[in-house]
Amino acid sequence: MPLNKTVLMAKISINLATGSLQKEDIVVGIDLGTTNSLVAFINPDKDPQVINDAGKGVLVPSVVHFDAQGEITVGNEAKEYLVTDPQNTIFSVKRLLGRSYHDIENYKDFFSYKVIDDNTESLVKIKVGDRFYTPIELSGLILKELKARAEHALKTPVNRAVITVPAYFNDSQRQATRDAGKLAGLDVLRIVNEPTAASLAYGIGLDPEETKTIAVYDLGGGTFDVSILQIQNGIFEVLSTNGDTFLGGDDFDRAIVNYWLEKNQLDKSILSDTALAQQLRLKAEEAKKAFAHQSLFNEKVGEIWCTLERTAFEELIRPKVEQTITCCKNALKDAGLGIDAIDEIVMVGGSTRTALVKKMVAEFFGKDVHNELNPDEVVALGAAIQADILAGNRKDILLLDVTPLSLGIETMGGLMDVIIPRNSKVPTKAGRQYTTSVDGQVNMKISVYQGERDLIKENRKLAEFDLKGIPAMPAGLPKVDINFLLNADGILKVQAIELRSGVKQEVEVKPTYGITDDQVEQMLMDSITHAQEDVAQRMLIEARTEGEQMVYTAKRFLEKNASYLSIQEIADTHRYIEELQAALATGEKDTIHKKIDELNTFTQPFAERLMDEAIGKAMKGKSL
Ligand code: ADP
Ligand code: MG
Repeated sequence: MPLNKTVLMAKISINLATGSLQKEDIVVGIDLGTTNSLVAFINPDKDPQVINDAGKGVLVPSVVHFDAQGEITVGNEAKEYLVTDPQNTIFSVKRLLGRSYHDIENYKDFFSYKVIDDNTESLVKIKVGDRFYTPIELSGLILKELKARAEHALKTPVNRAVITVPAYFNDSQRQATRDAGKLAGLDVLRIVNEPTAASLAYGIGLDPEETKTIAVYDLGGGTFDVSILQIQNGIFEVLSTNGDTFLGGDDFDRAIVNYWLEKNQLDKSILSDTALAQQLRLKAEEAKKAFAHQSLFNEKVGEIWCTLERTAFEELIRPKVEQTITCCKNALKDAGLGIDAIDEIVMVGGSTRTALVKKMVAEFFGKDVHNELNPDEVVALGAAIQADILAGNRKDILLLDVTPLSLGIETMGGLMDVIIPRNSKVPTKAGRQYTTSVDGQVNMKISVYQGERDLIKENRKLAEFDLKGIPAMPAGLPKVDINFLLNADGILKVQAIELRSGVKQEVEVKPTYGITDDQVEQMLMDSITHAQEDVAQRMLIEARTEGEQMVYTAKRFLEKNASYLSIQEIADTHRYIEELQAALATGEKDTIHKKIDELNTFTQPFAERLMDEAIGKAMKGKSL
């Protein structure tokens, strides 16, 4: 028997303000961008429409500012602080979502605010004043602003959303996006790939009969990606993605500013005057946009002449655009396709408004490109269409079987680690890698749960088994792959395999067995009413686990390497460890992070001094 068809998605929604059930609740589509974010919905005429609340503009810059009093601003207002208060103004947080410090160490200088380096595989944090924020919390603030704007503009509570992510986002980045939504008080019905949303906005893929191969070219503010999608029976499959995470419209602006400096015979060093630099940058952006309807830009910033002809502008940016074409070539190659195989090309991102970009892309593919819709709105518009489908409002579109509740396993501290999120189409498979938390651990208990809560004790246990016979190794060395396979009949197969030794174990369960629609409904409702406290608890547990792990590694480090350290260094390290232990006992997240940071900053030079291979490795890896 196939799974119950999206049992509830269409039916339930809860008014968070009153706690009452609502029948007709709107589901919005959100494009959570690196540079700009926006929200769209399906209007009463059944058309997707972007939200422009009180004339504040459609695009909300993805910027968050914290003032000394702890006052938080998001969007245009926050963007102004990029110049005046860069340490407390967070931009491009999407680059950090679901990332460990290890992932970003090569470009940490890009950020003007403090990204915490704790030398582990745990997720990065950002320090603002005395507080530590996770990228999830910061993205949550942006989503909260979008939710508030939608509610204000539509005069109705908005509790459900579809959020888009780049096709190349991994599991951890997708989960982080879901968590951010949860934190903003949103029930995230589905995470959708940005290129999929963009093609939906053009109506591509809505007809289940149609089979197509398309290229989605997305040039935003700071990032570029191209995806090749195959659409068949209403299913979007990503054949390949390519791109450059540091290439976008900002580079065009920089090229223009440098050109002006040269023409005015000024040295680049004058850009250390951040206010002037920002003024020039804004003027450059203005020039770039003006070329849509004029061929010469001629203005002044103070005494500096800002003159630029369109032809000169095009020569400035040509090498950048050529780089994106190389990425397109690579994407085709990875997909194993020739140019002729591409049926449609969809243009996404504000920077595709530049005529030269459109021209070069069209020339490369040998076809007209889709740019009839607003390129910086198209992703949100498509997300709104997907939201409407999930809400069950589009009878013309067949909803595929989906799993009604998330499936996952228990990780340290009793947390639920979701492997297959709810609303995933079936059949599906997903997996993740784990490791041990204690030296010499030879067994690993694997507990499989179903549900939406962050703590497994609130979810429904489906199965439990032991992976036995892991060869004794230091903590963090074993590599255990856990794979979930949910077939079309709703049978879940869970397989655990330790990659170094090959030991393997598996179970099969039927998640829908013994649970009624009403119970599923209840579980979903509980997850929404408890969302805020759940996320808070999860973050505390994660901080605690990280802190405990840190104490463990630091102590071991001292035991093994005492001879390399001075007596004073050993005593100080002990003191930092004790302080961290005291913080762990208080159970305050910020204090724990602060003490982790201090211990880390203090001991890092030692670690660098004697980079012990085994310990270096043991400090990494997600523990089970
Ligand atoms: P992201 O997806 O990274 O959040 P967007 O799609 O919103 O970014 O694109 C932002 C970029 O688009 C900025 O570099 C901005 O200067 C550029 N942009 C916006 N409008 C235009 C225009 N008319 N012409 C050229 N570039 C533009
Ligand atoms: Mg974008």
